[in-house]
Amino acid sequence: MKLIRFGERGAEKPGVLTDKGHRKDCSALFADWNRDFFQHGGLERLHAWKAKLDELPEVPSAVRWGAPVVRPGKVIGIGLNYSDHAAESGMPIPAEPIVFLKGTNTVCGPNDPVLIPRGSQKTDWEVELGVVIGRDARYLTSAAEAKNFIAGYCISHDVSERAFQLERGGQWTKGKSADNFNPLGPWLATADEVADPRNLNLTLEVNGHRKQTGNTSKMVFDVFFLVHYLSQFMTLEAGDVIITGTPPGVGLGQKPPQYLRAGDIVTLSIDSLGSQRSECVQV
Ligand code: ZN
Repeated sequence: MKLIRFGERGAEKPGVLTDKGHRKDCSALFADWNRDFFQHGGLERLHAWKAKLDELPEVPSAVRWGAPVVRPGKVIGIGLNYSDHAAESGMPIPAEPIVFLKGTNTVCGPNDPVLIPRGSQKTDWEVELGVVIGRDARYLTSAAEAKNFIAGYCISHDVSERAFQLERGGQWTKGKSADNFNPLGPWLATADEVADPRNLNLTLEVNGHRKQTGNTSKMVFDVFFLVHYLSQFMTLEAGDVIITGTPPGVGLGQKPPQYLRAGDIVTLSIDSLGSQRSECVQV
């Protein structure tokens, strides 16, 4: 199944994208794709409706796409998780996952504008595989067990302000948490729709020029390892989002470095997970 949300920001409703590409309104059946839905068997109930989804009202094409899940309890970022991206950043390949938190105010729709913060000269792009937790996960015993705790996958754009992140002291949080710094979607593909999250192509283009080309097979720590690993440090709650790192080709790694400016168009795609298109807007 492909879960979507639609409508004005802050007033989105739940829906699904059918195999024929139609958006269907599920708000008469479910409150929303939220923590309660995932934690209490909502995906199983939704699957039971699958044969009847074509009978649901269609969402008009002009209606905005929202993030495919409700604002999560937390967004956990993984840094330098592709060896070739670590190299372009001038950083060593980490011995253990580098973990940071990204403010949940960042989450927005897949085609919402990328907002360049005030005073920013170094707003950068990062295409990433997003993992949505399907039920609370604490002290998992193995990476294999982690599969049972993943609801599905979506595109995440981990927009990053490099001066705020790297030149202003402290941890990375300041450079990762500006408004709209995490367009998500267009859809959440449930785990059964993705044959192998460890073999997905990712791309990102700026104004039609390819910048990032990667495959999740190049991750230092794969998604199942990460869910198991993180659950040793914190409870991963249903609906939480893990963004799993970016392949090479970010602006910081260009020679010379290149950053986003107002009017730039950024497009992202991942196998099975669709594509995003955002225009950059100066705040
Ligand atoms: Zn990132």
